[in-house]
Amino acid sequence: MTESRQVIIIGSGPAGLTAAIYASRAQLSPLVIEGEPSSTSDQPGGQLMLTTEVENFPGFVEGIMGPDLMVAFREQAARFGTEYVTSKVSRVDLSSRPFRLWVGDPDAAEPTYAAEALIVATGAKSLMLNLPNEERLLGYGVSTCATCDGFFFRGMDIAVVGGGDSALEEALFLTKFADKVTLIHRRGELRASKVMQKRAMDHPKIEFLWHSTVVDVMGDTKVSGIRVRNLESGVETDMALSGLFVAIGHQPNTALFEGQLDMESTGYLRTVGTTTYTNVEGVFACGDVQDHRYRQAITAAGSGCMAAIDAERWIEDQAASGH
Ligand code: NAP
Repeated sequence: MTESRQVIIIGSGPAGLTAAIYASRAQLSPLVIEGEPSSTSDQPGGQLMLTTEVENFPGFVEGIMGPDLMVAFREQAARFGTEYVTSKVSRVDLSSRPFRLWVGDPDAAEPTYAAEALIVATGAKSLMLNLPNEERLLGYGVSTCATCDGFFFRGMDIAVVGGGDSALEEALFLTKFADKVTLIHRRGELRASKVMQKRAMDHPKIEFLWHSTVVDVMGDTKVSGIRVRNLESGVETDMALSGLFVAIGHQPNTALFEGQLDMESTGYLRTVGTTTYTNVEGVFACGDVQDHRYRQAITAAGSGCMAAIDAERWIEDQAASGH
């Protein structure tokens, strides 16, 4: 039987759970479909579940572990009546209201849930190199976020992988902390904008390793080095370093919404102006699934708050106009 809900939130990172805190305090009894664990790097709670210490989330003077922060978000939303289901949405139909959502068999005749309003907070994932020890050392020297983790690498030697604007931006940011930043790129020319290229090439702390790929990251409890292969000669060399930043791009989790919600060519959801409205009335998007620029827990949380307020006002307007 289909369960009907006023508000369903898909996703349980900072955006989804902040939307849940606001929606539950607005008496909208939200249901959060939080995802389900399928690997170390894919589990409910979003990208903060993959980090260790978070020192830039306001309110935590001494910092907080990423997973602990997400447990606190989750419990805060539960306190006001948010309910959770630990599953993944397999299909959505946004062609009419109430919106229909399937969990489990996407071909089932009956949807699992029907929602008057839907908040999409499915986030994005960092593309990874798929090295044998990369996932194990994620948060222990392997990072996908210089803004989050750069501070922990003061006075150390580190490497950044990638040749786009993100990689150069991360490398430049990391020079504030690290002694030396090696930028490892698989080709002999960068994809990044010329201005970023010049800035990085002129920087005394940045060295470039061209035509090279990382084949593994070493370390017992934290990163101690990497093995790099030169793609022209095939020669492999070990480099001692303390950090490996993977900056080869992000992928928003939007496959579910293809053909239904407006997206950029990169797959990020389009929202209207400064709101969280999507092209489908009653569907709101927040967090990294619609933000490829800032991608911070605090900005995601802020936009989750916006989505809940947008949804609440939209529901009120619907009721006032007799829908
Ligand atoms: P991107 O432009 O797609 O660049 C990804 C880089 O990673 C490319 O250099 C690519 O190499 C490399 N790469 C991809 N897969 C790899 C793999 N498996 N192993 C090794 N290297 C791999 O991604 P991005 O840098 O995240 O940027 C995304 C968009 O955001 C771009 O449009 C960018 O301009 C924009 N952006 C702008 C700013 C800014 O203006 N400040 C900052 C960040 C991002 P190849 O070059 O060989 O394909």
